[in-house]
Formats: sequence, C-alpha cells, structure tokens
Amino acid sequence: MNYLNEDIDSLNQKLAQGDLSAEKLAQDTVANIKKTDDKLNAWITVQDDAKPAADLDFAKNKLAGIPIAIKDNIITKGVKTTAASHILDNYIPVYDATVIERLKKAQATFVGKTNMDEFAMGSSTEHSYFGATHNPWNLDKVPGGSSGGSAVAVASGQVVAALGSDTGGSIRQPAAFNGIFGIKPTYGRVSRWGLIAFGSSLDEIGVMSKRAKSAAEVLNVIAGSDDHDSTLSTREVPDFTQFIGQDVKGLRVAVVKEYMAAVDGEMHDVIQKQIDALEDAGAIISEVSLPLTKYVVPDYYIIASSEASSNLQRYDGIRYGYRAEDTKNLLDVYVKSRSEGFGTEVKRRIMLGSFALSAGSYDRFFRQAAKVRTLICDEFDEIFANNDVIVGPTTTEPAFGIGSEISDPIKMYNNDILTISANLAGIPAASVPAGLVDGMPVGFQIMAKRFDEGSIFKTADFIERTNKFYEKTPAGMED
Ligand code: GLN
Repeated sequence: MNYLNEDIDSLNQKLAQGDLSAEKLAQDTVANIKKTDDKLNAWITVQDDAKPAADLDFAKNKLAGIPIAIKDNIITKGVKTTAASHILDNYIPVYDATVIERLKKAQATFVGKTNMDEFAMGSSTEHSYFGATHNPWNLDKVPGGSSGGSAVAVASGQVVAALGSDTGGSIRQPAAFNGIFGIKPTYGRVSRWGLIAFGSSLDEIGVMSKRAKSAAEVLNVIAGSDDHDSTLSTREVPDFTQFIGQDVKGLRVAVVKEYMAAVDGEMHDVIQKQIDALEDAGAIISEVSLPLTKYVVPDYYIIASSEASSNLQRYDGIRYGYRAEDTKNLLDVYVKSRSEGFGTEVKRRIMLGSFALSAGSYDRFFRQAAKVRTLICDEFDEIFANNDVIVGPTTTEPAFGIGSEISDPIKMYNNDILTISANLAGIPAASVPAGLVDGMPVGFQIMAKRFDEGSIFKTADFIERTNKFYEKTPAGMED
C-alpha cells in the first residue's frame, strides 16, 4: 500500500465502505515500507506483527485502522524506543506516551518507529546511530531533521501521517525539505508525557502529513489537557478541521522582513508567490520586523543545550539503557557508558550546556539567554496585537547534500534561524509546501498567536488549495 494519493478522509471512507480491510492495510503498509526503505532508511523499527485495534468504529474514529508513523523519541509500551541513540538501542518502554494512549483510544494502527537525529539534536537526520535517512526527492540530499524519518515516511507514501517532535524546527524544516505539511502546536497544547526530553521548555509533539486536514484530524486526537504534564493548558481544544476550507479574506498577514531577506533568487520568488496569492484572495498584507532574529541561534543553542545537559543526566548506565563492560567502579560505569553510548553531537550539546550552566558562566550565558528569550516573546506579542499570522520561508535553502554540513556544526546550527523563534516564544507554527526550487521542495512558514492553531490551518489549507503542491510526488516511490 502506498499513500501518495490518499488522505485520512479518503482512507476513512474506503475503510467504512469496506473497500479496504484494516488488517490488509496494516500488512500492506508494512510490506511497502520493507520494500522501499532500503534506499530511504526512514525507519528504525518496523512492526511485522502490525494489526488494527479490535471493533473498529469508522464513524466515531476518523483514524480507526489507519497506520500512523511514530518518531522514535516517543515512548511506546513494548516496542523498542531508541531516540536513535546507542545508549537506548535496546530500550523497551513499560508505558505509553500520552499521545500514544490517545491514538490507541482513537483506534489508529501502529506500524513502527521512525529515524531521527540522536535525541532530536540535529537538522539533517545524519546524527542517527542507525544511519542517515535519505530524501525521496533526491536520495543524495538530507531529509532535514530531526524528524527526518517521519517526514520521509509521509513524503514517500509509506504512511499517510506521522508524529514528530519540534524543539527548534524539527517538524517544520523536514516538512519543508520533503514537500509536506508539518505543524508544531502551541507549547502546552500536546502532552509531553512520554516524549524523551531534549529541551523541556521548547519540546513539542506535532503532526506531519501531505494535507493540512489530515494533520488537523490527528491533532484533534492528541491535543488537550493531561494530568501527567503540568505545563499543559486546560483550555478547550477546538475541532481543528473546522478551519479547513475557509476564506482568507480579511486575514491579517504579517511578512517578516528579516525572513524574506534570508532567501534570494528562485526561492524568494516561490515564497513571494504564496504571499501574492493570499493578497489576491483578500488577505491584508503588511511588512513587519523581528530585529532580534540575528540573536535567536545563539539564544536557542544556549537554552536548548543547557536543558539537554540536565535532561540527559539520567542516562548513567545504571537505571536503563546501555551499560559499558569491564568497568572498575561506579564512576567508571558512568563515564564509560556515557562516552560509548552517546554520539558526537549529543556530547557536544552536553558540554556546551554544562558550561553555560556552570557557576562561573551562568550569569553570562544562561541568564542572558533567558532574558533575550523574553524580549523575543515581546517582539511576537507586539506583532500579533495587529496581525493574525506571521509568514515567511521555513528555511533559507532547499535540502542540502548528505555529508555536506555534518562536519561544520555552526553552519548546521545556522540552518535553524527561521524556525527556532517559534519555540522560544512558545507559539504554534507550521510549514506548508510552496513549490520546487531546482527540483527540491521548499516550505512556507505560518506562525500564529498561542493557541491559535486555527489561523494556521486556515492559511495552510488556502495555500494548499491554491498551489496544489500535493499533486506532486517524488519519482520512483509508487507501488
Ligand atoms: N535543529 C535544532 C537542533 O539541532 C532543532 C532540533 C529539534 O527541533 N529537535 O537543536
């Protein structure tokens, strides 16, 4: 089974009418993943025994019997969850993340876990203990990261939708590089219980799919308050599908000057075309400035690495995960297990974060970064006082070549300049396909006020209907 021309509604209809059997769908999905993944490497675990839930209710549950891919940093009871790290490569969780519990209740089918950068640290899915994932539009290019496996699974038609996580752009950047839709909801909208922590004040689980409506359908299931996550909002979750098919007349759209200046040539033209389409349909366009954009990369890397250095202390070779052999004493167990278990990028973040939090450096680095973060939030609030959405490109370039940036961390980090502000501000943000540049997809980013994912769905769906990018598929992925 290949999903290139399906969405959740079309599948739900076929299942409800009996044109498709959920058992066969599960088996065919696994068979197709096995057939196509040799060249893509989008999966860490494929569940051979995948089967649908019992007593499927297609009328009540839109996701009933539909296979959803899960990023491998989301805890799944009884199914290996590695975060793409050697330190967890044999870890079988004893509980489900809240989002998994909810997908189970909604009777979704589980077929496996997708590849990613180790502990979600990266922008290319090259930092995986299980090898790099390849972009289906050009196998020599990266799929972006860290949710590269989830993005490729959707873009290549292996599944119709996937869960990803976004700490600094890890849903939106791979969505852009693979020509699909990806949304990072508001911080506090989706429970982080059971998401392997990277930067706890930034991490957010979200959805990737070809069509915005399918993502709305999945978000309807996973969003909403949870006693296990005290940072979660208790406010009511709207039906996000109600924002699909709406008119954008009168929508106040702010175009970020600094974001537009970060792209040129054909890429600039493709992004501008989306803005023109909104204007032609009656949206009110204005230009705005986010002057602090030049500070967001260092700001994010100090905060995210500091939180990571603290969160990753739990991998000590004692409680769970990889334990080194031939150790002399307890300290040796810690040192050897962590030295052998973590990859280079994760160690770099732990060192950077430990330094930024250390007694002599805290005031100069972490405290300063936290203050800058507040100023960034203020900049967004000011713009949202008069605007519904903020738009611009998702990335500065289309997907780069595998191996081309891996040895230059600063270059890799700078790739995130357009996505990390939304995480620092806790606002929802999405990427919707804009077009192709040199045969590779590029994404249009849409941000909105906290808890206003609705305006994002409305805008993204309009862009989708206008440029019809969903009709394009990477060559050679069909059944
Ligand atoms: N690329 C960013 C980083 O490496 C963001 C990762 C993410 O969103 N998980 O930290």
